[in-house]
Amino acid sequence: MSENNRIALGIDIGGTKISMACVQNGEIISQILTYNTPKSAKGILETVLNGTEALVSEFAPTSIGIATAGAVNRENTKVISSTGNLPNGYSDINLKEEIEKKFNTKTLLENDANAAAYAEFKVGAAKGQMNTITITLGTGVGGGIIVDGKLLRGKSGAAAEVGHIPLSWEKKRQCTCGDWDCWEAYASGTGYAITAREMASKIPLEYRSEFLKDKNVDKLTTHDIISGIKQGDEFCIKIHEAWLEFVLMGLISLTNVFDPESIVLSGGMAKFIDFDDLNKKLDKRCNITKTRIMNASAGNNAGIIGAAMLAIEKFSES
Ligand SMILES: [Zn+2]
Repeated sequence: MSENNRIALGIDIGGTKISMACVQNGEIISQILTYNTPKSAKGILETVLNGTEALVSEFAPTSIGIATAGAVNRENTKVISSTGNLPNGYSDINLKEEIEKKFNTKTLLENDANAAAYAEFKVGAAKGQMNTITITLGTGVGGGIIVDGKLLRGKSGAAAEVGHIPLSWEKKRQCTCGDWDCWEAYASGTGYAITAREMASKIPLEYRSEFLKDKNVDKLTTHDIISGIKQGDEFCIKIHEAWLEFVLMGLISLTNVFDPESIVLSGGMAKFIDFDDLNKKLDKRCNITKTRIMNASAGNNAGIIGAAMLAIEKFSES
């Protein structure tokens, strides 16, 4: 069977949910099974095996691709570092081995941001662009980088951890990685809310806007600020501009280092971006080479699609 018509099962394992579906020619052809992520590593394994069983018996995929949080080794066989939002022991369960043993189907693992980037490159916003980067702006900041049509994996498989580009020497804000002032600490949804709280607490009570006056500034959320912007509140607009500046700092670095045709933005925070405005701002700041910032189009299922397509390609080679 040619690579074109092969069916693969794609599985996306995240901190809050696990979803899976069968993919053919870059499109989902089965129902999408979705589960809440179990609280234990063993529970995750059981959930993945049960879902796989249902889809394998109906669609007989020729391979399986798993997109997972955490860095995956260069051989795509196991998770080498677990992320904070998956349970302890997750990196010790051998998903590939367990699945291959039970279903006799070749399986690979890939970091979820890498898988999403691959989906945007193959079938999404950056389709046909040989040099493109996808950034996930969510609770954290993830990235996947395509160089000359190939996913950049690095010496150990941990490349494209773009969220940990440092922005300052000042040690103002600690990052989830343990270092200080990483891009993620400012450009993520979590960072957005922290910036809002810091900026609000510096404004004396009598100078706070109507919108802010009745709010507990220590508990401001991203959604508070977004609703403030909709009401035209100037303070909220300033917060948003500050956040965009932080987002820009990382985008400028990536543009200058990788000279990509596009940088695709996905994740929950991307929907708060005015892409025309951001492109204008980026153009003004990139003096060596330029790129285009685009909205993701492979959507919520990018992890499933990307992992499945990587599996089809890898296991068609032999
Ligand atoms: Zn960091």
